[in-house]
Amino acid sequence: MARENKAEEGQPNRLKSTEDFIILESAYQEIANTVGRRPAESGGILLGSREDFVVQKFVFDHKGSMSAGAYDPNTEFLNKVVKKEWNENKLAFLGFLHSHPRGLSRLSGDWGGNVGDIGYMKAILKAIPDLKKFLVPIIFSPADGGELTFFPYIAYPGREENYFTGNLKLIKDKDYVPASSEQNKNEYRLNISRLQGSVDPELMRRAKVVCVGVGGANGICESLVRSGLGKIVLIDFDRVDGSNLVTQGYYMEDIGKLKVDAVRERIRRINPAVQVEVLAGDFTTVDDETMDHIMYGTDLLLMMTDNFHAQAHGNIIGLKYQVPTVFAMMYERARGAEIGFMIPGITPACHRCVTSSRYAAYLNEGYTNDVTSTGSTNFHTGYLNNCIGLLSLAILHKETSGLEFSQWFGAQWDQNQIILRTSPFFESKSFGSLTQKDERMVSFDAIWHHIEPDVQPKYKQCPDCGGLGDLRDAFLHHQSIKSE
Ligand SMILES: [Zn+2]
Ligand SMILES: [Zn+2]
Repeated sequence: MARENKAEEGQPNRLKSTEDFIILESAYQEIANTVGRRPAESGGILLGSREDFVVQKFVFDHKGSMSAGAYDPNTEFLNKVVKKEWNENKLAFLGFLHSHPRGLSRLSGDWGGNVGDIGYMKAILKAIPDLKKFLVPIIFSPADGGELTFFPYIAYPGREENYFTGNLKLIKDKDYVPASSEQNKNEYRLNISRLQGSVDPELMRRAKVVCVGVGGANGICESLVRSGLGKIVLIDFDRVDGSNLVTQGYYMEDIGKLKVDAVRERIRRINPAVQVEVLAGDFTTVDDETMDHIMYGTDLLLMMTDNFHAQAHGNIIGLKYQVPTVFAMMYERARGAEIGFMIPGITPACHRCVTSSRYAAYLNEGYTNDVTSTGSTNFHTGYLNNCIGLLSLAILHKETSGLEFSQWFGAQWDQNQIILRTSPFFESKSFGSLTQKDERMVSFDAIWHHIEPDVQPKYKQCPDCGGLGDLRDAFLHHQSIKSE
C-alpha cells in the first residue's frame, strides 16, 4: 500500500511459525500471471473458506492505482468482487496480497487513517468482525528482476503488528478437500456424547493447550483430543527412536520422524478438525514474538519434559502469560512420580516455590540429573499421563459448575504438589508417616502437599513469583527485578 518508501529493511521470517499458509496451485498461478508480471506495487485479494483459510482464488485488482513506491487498492472494485464471489461461489474474503520492491519484505506500518499496510489491515479487520484471521502476504515480482518470492504473512485481529510468517504450502486443486463440505462436516465432528456431564463440549472445542515435550506425553495430547479439545500446540525437537516404542507408545513406522509430526498425524486420525500447530525446536530458545503467538489464547501449558532448564523456563512463561501450568517428573525407577501445578489467581505458590530445593541443587550446587526414566514401563507413563490428563480437565473446567470436572479447587488452593506412589518400594517420608501404621495402604495412592509461597523470613524470596501469595502479581514482580 501507500508510502512504502519508509525505511524498513527486509528481515524476512522473523517468526518461526507453526501455522500453515495453504494456497491452491491455480490461485498461486494467477498471482504469478498478474502481480508477478508487473513491477511493484500491485495487488489483489485472496478468497476461500473462513473454516480453513486455504486460498482457493486470487482476484487481481486491475483498477488499483500503481505509482512508483505505492499501491492503493480500489476498494469499490474489490467490494464488488467480494460480493460476487460470495454469492456465486461461496468464497469469502481472506486477505490481500501485494508486491513490494525487492528488499522491502516487511509490511509498512500503521500511520493512522488506514494508511500503511498495517493501518489498512486494521481498518479491514474492524469493518469485518467475523474475520478471525487475516492473510497479508507480500511478494517480490520477477518483473523487478529475480524470482517470484512469496512472504506468507498471517495476522490476527488486535495483534496486527505481531503478524508472522506462515509455512507456505502449495496444494494441487484436485487434492483440496473443502472443510465446509457436508460430507466432511459429518466426519469432522467428533462424537463426544459419552462425555455428557463430564466435560463442557463447547469449552473443550474452544480450549487451547500447549504441550512442551511430547515424548511420554503424547498419550496426554491424544486423550485430551479424545475429550473434545479443539486446539493444541506441540513443541519438541526430538525424533522417535527404537527405545521410545517401549515407554512412549510410538509405533515402528514412527521411527525417525519428529515426535511432533508423529503425534500430529495421530491426532488427525482421531479428529481432523482439531487445530494442531507444531514447533520442532527447543522451547527455551523460542524468541519473544514466536512465544507471543504460541501463548496467545492458551488455556493450559503442559511442561512435560524431563529437562530442568526447560521446566524452569516453563514456570516463567506460565507466570508471564498468566496461564495455568502443569509440571511432571518421574522419580528413580519410576516407583513414584510428581505433578506440580500453578494456577494464577488460585494457587499462592508457583512451580519454583514448590521445588526450590531442586532449583538450589541445579543452580548453586552444579547438580546434574542422573536419574533417568530407566526402569519405567509404558504402564508408568500411562499412569502418570492419566493423572495429568484428569488434572488438566479439572483446570480447564475450573470456572464451570455442575460438571464432573467443575470446582476441584477452592478459592485459595494451596495443595499444588502431588506425589504419586506406583510401587510398594517407593521410599518417601510423606507416605511413610501417613501410612506406616496401616498395612492396607500399599501403592497407587497420592498425596497432595500444601505448598507455601517462598517468602522471607521463613524462606528465601522466590525470584520468579516473588512469594507474594498471588501469582497474578508475579509478572510485575518479575519485570521489576529485571529492570533493577
Ligand atoms: Zn505494502
Ligand atoms: Zn514462586
